[in-house]
Amino acid sequence: MSDCIFCMIINGDIPSNKVYEDDKCVAFYDVAPAAPVHVLLLPKTHCDNVTKCDPELLGYMMSKIQVIAEKTGIMESGFRVVINTGKDGGQTVNHLHIHIIGGKELGWPPC
Ligand code: AMP
Repeated sequence: MSDCIFCMIINGDIPSNKVYEDDKCVAFYDVAPAAPVHVLLLPKTHCDNVTKCDPELLGYMMSKIQVIAEKTGIMESGFRVVINTGKDGGQTVNHLHIHIIGGKELGWPPC
C-alpha cells in the first residue's frame, strides 16, 4: 500500500470533499484552506511534483481549472493557481497538486 496521503484519498482510504473527478484527475477542498475557496487538483497517477509529470497530463489538468473555478463560484471574481515544488517551494505533500485559491482578494508577493 502506498504511503502517499493523496494516493490514499484517490483510493478512497481517506475521505475528501470532492469538487471534480474524471478518469485522469480529481479535485477536492483543501483541509486547511488558505482562503474561502481552496481546492487541490491532482492526477490520479502518482507523480512526485510538476517536473515529473507527463506534460500532456499537466495540460489536461490545466484545462480543468476553469471547470473547477466555475463550480466553486470564483470564475468571475478571479483566483490564483499555485504549484509548490520542493523544499524551498513549500511542497509538503509529494504528489503533484495544483492549488486553486480564491474567494477573497489575495495578497502579493506570497512571501
Ligand atoms: P503543499 O504544501 O503545496 O504540498 O500543499 C499540500 C496541501 O495539502 C496543504 O494545503 C494541506 O492543507 C493539504 N492537505 C493535506 N492533507 C490533506 C487532506 N487529507 N485533505 C485535503 N487537503 C489536505
